Amino acid sequence: MKSTSFEYVRARSIDEVFVFLGKHGDEAKILAGGQSLLPAMNMRLAAPEVLIDVSQIPDLQGIEMLGNRLRIGAMSRHVDVLNSSKVAEHTPLIASATRNVAHPAIRNRGTFGGSLCHADPASELPACALALGASFNIQNRSGSRAVKAKDFFQGTYTTCLEDDEILTSVDVPLATADTMTFFEEFSRRKGDYAMAGLAARAEIQGQQINDVKLVFFAVSDVATSAQSAEKLLSGALLGTVDTEAICQAVSGDITPFDDLTTSGATKSALMKTLTRRALQAFATQGEA
Ligand code: FAD
Repeated sequence: MKSTSFEYVRARSIDEVFVFLGKHGDEAKILAGGQSLLPAMNMRLAAPEVLIDVSQIPDLQGIEMLGNRLRIGAMSRHVDVLNSSKVAEHTPLIASATRNVAHPAIRNRGTFGGSLCHADPASELPACALALGASFNIQNRSGSRAVKAKDFFQGTYTTCLEDDEILTSVDVPLATADTMTFFEEFSRRKGDYAMAGLAARAEIQGQQINDVKLVFFAVSDVATSAQSAEKLLSGALLGTVDTEAICQAVSGDITPFDDLTTSGATKSALMKTLTRRALQAFATQGEA
């Protein structure tokens, strides 16, 4: 199938985006890499009358250090993130996750910001943003606001973005020598969307594990923290963690849904395996 007909405009600046959004209102959609929006249009799941291409706007590009944060421009393509030494060094969770996003051809066009705005529950990057406590920089014609990841994602394909707003960049706290991270997913083939995945982060102080985040994706309508498991693990000492108790807590926190390819029961078993592997990785990293 092909999309319904639409008008295409290219914005040269963020201000010009607002001119187009003002003119076309909710009949317009922002076009970044097009790797989710265009397939959705071809399947007639979306039918915007106007596409506003933001791919050539300089202010949406670039990856830069800002004090204790890394600012990733919304139009950074997945391949730019993968090739960035700053991302590899300071936000290794995002580097690991991005290696699992789709295939090279899609990573050459798809963008960091587009993936977050699309808010697919099976996507890797929303889970990382939640695990790392990222902050989203959003602009409209009259000003800007910063929104925490936990308030940005509101459900399947749903974020807090209003029709007249654009995501300009995302600020990610830098990992320190005390930060431990883990990323892994199960998918049928490399590059496919995950059947279940986990983005995890914790801080180690002496032997104590703190600030734990265990964020599962592809298991419910939005990437979700296993909150009681996080509480149980926070404050525990390395080497004394009761792995099976944490797995039980994860099962109590999240009841995974069935999707087209994978039953909830299978996802639940995969989540336990991911939890065991994360705890093993923390033990190895904490002792290093
Ligand atoms: P677009 O498709 O251009 O836009 C997506 C949505 O976000 C649209 O609604 C658009 O209006 C909005 N938007 C984009 N940028 C902004 C902005 N700056 N401000 C406000 N709104 C904005 N993704 C994964 O995470 N994991 C996978 O395993 C995976 N596998 C894939 C396999 C295939 C075969 C395909 C086709 C895609 C796959 N994807 C996967 C999706 C891919 O990663 C997309 O790049 C990403 O989801 C969307 O980024 P984009 O730049 O292409 O956004």
